[in-house]
Amino acid sequence: MNDSLLTILYLAAGVLFIRSLGGLSNQESARRGNTFGIVGMVIAVVATALGPDVDGYVVLGAGVVVGAAIGALVAARVSMEAMPQLVALLHSFVGAAAVLVGLASFLNPRPGLHGVEHVIHQSEIFIGVFVGSLTFTGSLIAFGKLQGGALKKIFLFRSAPVLLPGRHLLNLAMVLGCGYLTYRGIAEPDTGFASLLIVTAISGVLGAHLVMAIGGADMPVVVSMLNSYSGWAAAAAGFMLENDLLIITGALVGSSGAILSYIMCRAMNRSIVNVIFGGFGTGDGAKPASKGSSAGLGRDDVTELDVDGTADELKRARDVIIVPGYGMAVARAQTPIHEITQKLRAAGANVRFAIHPVAGRLPGHMNVLLAEANVPYDIVLEMDEINEDMSDTDLVLVVGANDIVNPDALEDPGSPIAGMPVLEVWHAETVVVMKRGMAAGYAGVQNPLFFKPNTRMLFGDAKKNLDAILAKL
Ligand code: NDP
Repeated sequence: MNDSLLTILYLAAGVLFIRSLGGLSNQESARRGNTFGIVGMVIAVVATALGPDVDGYVVLGAGVVVGAAIGALVAARVSMEAMPQLVALLHSFVGAAAVLVGLASFLNPRPGLHGVEHVIHQSEIFIGVFVGSLTFTGSLIAFGKLQGGALKKIFLFRSAPVLLPGRHLLNLAMVLGCGYLTYRGIAEPDTGFASLLIVTAISGVLGAHLVMAIGGADMPVVVSMLNSYSGWAAAAAGFMLENDLLIITGALVGSSGAILSYIMCRAMNRSIVNVIFGGFGTGDGAKPASKGSSAGLGRDDVTELDVDGTADELKRARDVIIVPGYGMAVARAQTPIHEITQKLRAAGANVRFAIHPVAGRLPGHMNVLLAEANVPYDIVLEMDEINEDMSDTDLVLVVGANDIVNPDALEDPGSPIAGMPVLEVWHAETVVVMKRGMAAGYAGVQNPLFFKPNTRMLFGDAKKNLDAILAKL
């Protein structure tokens, strides 16, 4: 394939990627956006494979077949609630790829580069490896923190921040150290590769250290920050390989991830600088996390409701708001929720969904699940659109949500989630909270909502209970 055709195909793929991002910004157009992305990626892979830089198809073919098979298998098998971990793991692959491209580029220098050009290329390699290694280890730690379960027992993967003494100085020392080694590596070619390996190791420690220090409640921002880093790592690989499309794609992912991080920070009332450097909401590690204003209260202090009682409340209510959270994803309860919604609407009730920007474990997690269950988009509202309506609502049904409906975020300045806007469900006439027990949410804090006089607790798996409610309706 000649260079002009390659350029045209790369341009077409770049435009498709931009259209893909545009489509993904809205639920109605998301499917179309995804299709643009797929077509763009097929064009990109085929054009690169047929381009002048590839001279043997055996290794490339083997890589594509094995990679595609593993990817297809993992994607087909992954459950919806494990999606955030998978995304974190995929970010780590981008980081690892950038490191490997960097090491390979150093060992196989591009011929004919001298003077300034050589220095620029070497700088690209060191920067690419730095960003790639940081992304790799940071994403692995994020994967562990999101996975929970047995991994939670491991110190590095606790959802609470792990704050080492003097960590900001440590981070600064690591960044300066990498800067110095980059200078040395470029100035002294004989020891350049050793310097590059040390930069890889230090930036790997830096990535792990940065993400370890981030507490549970700030993880949404970390996930989108790592998304952004993986984009910059890909762009760096594009510079090293002189591949324009990889540069464009990496820059698109990097900048859109950065914008998403900013949006998430705003939604959580966090400063992006504080989130990146970790420990926000814990008083920089000096102050223990508050357990909230309801510390000491337990299951005996709540008012329980059974399935029959909840079905009666739903039948009575004219205005219903459903608040889905991570527990809905775990229980896979979106289908019975949709069927209940249909029944209530058919009976004349006004039923709407309230989506918190960080509900679940991934930006847009709840929207994806509700769309999967065919819930109409026009009754799925963002927090800002619906929060004011809570006081005119007869019944709020909280399905497996916890942190996003915690009044302590507004009322207890010592809480790790203090300042985060929440869905103010307690203003409704009655609130029914569906969860299995009294366990805390992701941020690990008690929730005083459960003890309010207008709150009823319906304990048990959300899907089982919703199926039973559906049968009653
Ligand atoms: P939470 O994690 O706060 O709460 C989920 C609740 O669901 C738990 O308290 C749990 O209680 C309940 N639950 C679990 N399984 C079931 C089940 N099978 N049936 C019924 N209930 C169940 O989720 P939220 O959505 O309220 O808040 C999201 C949290 O995750 C925030 O702290 C956010 O910062 C964080 N986060 C968000 C990310 C994002 O991008 N959206 C990324 C990373 C973290 P019990 O065990 O008692 O059943």
